Order: sequence, then structure tokens, then C-alpha cells
Amino acid sequence: MVIKNSILAPEWDSTLQRSGNDFTLTFHFKIFLHAIQSKEKFDDGNVFTNGKGVLIWDQAGHYKLNDWADGEWATYRRRFVEILTSSWSGRFTLVPNKPWLKLESGEMIAAKIFCKLSIELVVNKSEKHHQKYRIVHTQNQDAGFRSYADHYTRSAVLSQTDITTEWMFTGPKAHLYPTIVETNVNGKIKKEKHNVEFAFNRLVHEFGHTLGLNHVNGIGNESYNYGITLKQRMSIMGYGSHFYPEHGIPWVKRLGKHLIAQNHQEHTLKFTSHLTDSLQLITYWDNGELKK
Ligand SMILES: [Zn+2]
Repeated sequence: MVIKNSILAPEWDSTLQRSGNDFTLTFHFKIFLHAIQSKEKFDDGNVFTNGKGVLIWDQAGHYKLNDWADGEWATYRRRFVEILTSSWSGRFTLVPNKPWLKLESGEMIAAKIFCKLSIELVVNKSEKHHQKYRIVHTQNQDAGFRSYADHYTRSAVLSQTDITTEWMFTGPKAHLYPTIVETNVNGKIKKEKHNVEFAFNRLVHEFGHTLGLNHVNGIGNESYNYGITLKQRMSIMGYGSHFYPEHGIPWVKRLGKHLIAQNHQEHTLKFTSHLTDSLQLITYWDNGELKK
């Protein structure tokens, strides 16, 4: 096996470092975080500003913009890094299907890979960066501006509220389909419609798109793409805060570029993503069955 310690790529850099008998695979992001002031003009395709204090999102309407205050922007930048690091870094461990690392003694071991994330904010757009995140400051916080991040264009538009965990309501009150709760009753799956509220952090979700992840129920922005069942909707790639092992797939994919197989035996090596810590807080509130 040839081990490449460092990879530079347009979307993010990565390093693979040995620590004892295991490895750490770290994603290094340089993100240009751009505070959009109210009169600033930009055009990101579907979303643009008119330079007169209005953000136009052609699917959902017009939003009046505020300027960023210095202190507020400094807090946003700090929280941006803290939230992404605490939610994504160290979350996944990649486990091999067989021993692959040869020790000096000649013994082969099944070395594991710990997945880390490192974020560096770039102040100036002329500095090298992998991703460009534009952060707008909308006047009406509940106006329903939908943030987004695009893996392919390596850009995102977020708002000032996206670092705050909010409640996503599902059910008739929110004009969203109720959440389907499946319970196993004596070996039979019973489905009930529940009114469920999910704690949701948009920044954590949008960064999933930056990593190349899609919504829990397929590509798209329809309600069903965010999931139908409780298990789907509680996902970070649904409406919730729960991480699943498959959210570590971006690390599995990148690892394939760090470990270069030299023979047939090494080509059959495969890694699967696991949650490093299987305990997660329950971050939804189930208001129970909806009676017709
Ligand atoms: Zn999304």
C-alpha cells in the first residue's frame, strides 16, 4: 500500500497522519466567509442582490437586507467555526474489512481511521480558498429565506440566523406532512402520523451539502426529500440533528485517494463509516399521534 499523506483539491485539502496503530484523516477547509452588506451587489444564479438593499430569490421572493455590525459579524465568524467543528469533527471512524497495515514486525493489522475537520476562515477573497460562503443579514428573521450550499459550485448563501438552532415544525400547523412514526408491535410495523418538532441547525445541514451529501430522501428540495418517517426526518440531512454512519461517506471517498492499492489483495480493502460515539441526544419533540 502506498500512503499519500497530503492531498490538495479544489473542494478541500486533506491529510492522513499516523498516530500509533491508527490514522487520522483530516479535511482542511479554507472558507471565504463574506458578510454581504445591504447595498452590496452579488449574483449567485438563483439568488442575487439588486444593490439597493434587496435580496431576490426567484423561487421564494424578496428580502430586505440589513448591514452587519462589526461585533455581530465577529460573533458569527467565531460561532461558524465552533459549530462546524463540534458537530462534524471526530464524528466518524472508518473501519477496514481486513488487516491492511504492515507493522515493522511484519504483522498485518486492521488500522482504523479517525475523521477530523479543520476550518480556516479566509478574510480576503484574493487569498486561496476552497469554498465561498456569502452571509446575508435579512431584516425579517422569520421571512423564510431558504439558505443553500452547492457542492459543485463550492458556494453557499446563508443568513444571520443559520448558526442558531431552530425548531422545525411538522404537521398541519406548519403546512407540512405529519411525521410517520413506525413502531414494531409484535413483529408488525405499525405506522402512525405524529406531530413532531425537530431541533435543526441550518449551518450543520448546509455544510453536509458542501461535503457532497444529499437530502435524506434523494436530491431535491421537495418536502419528501427531507424525509417522511421520523428516522429520516431526524437526520441532519432531513429536518433534524441526528448523524447517521453514511454521513461519513465523504471521508471514505477521500481515503481512497490517500491509500493507493498496489496489488489485487490491496484492491479488495474496503472501509465503512461508523459513528465514533453511538450516543446522541434526542433532539426532537414528539407531540404524539394526530387524531383525525
Ligand atoms: Zn438541504
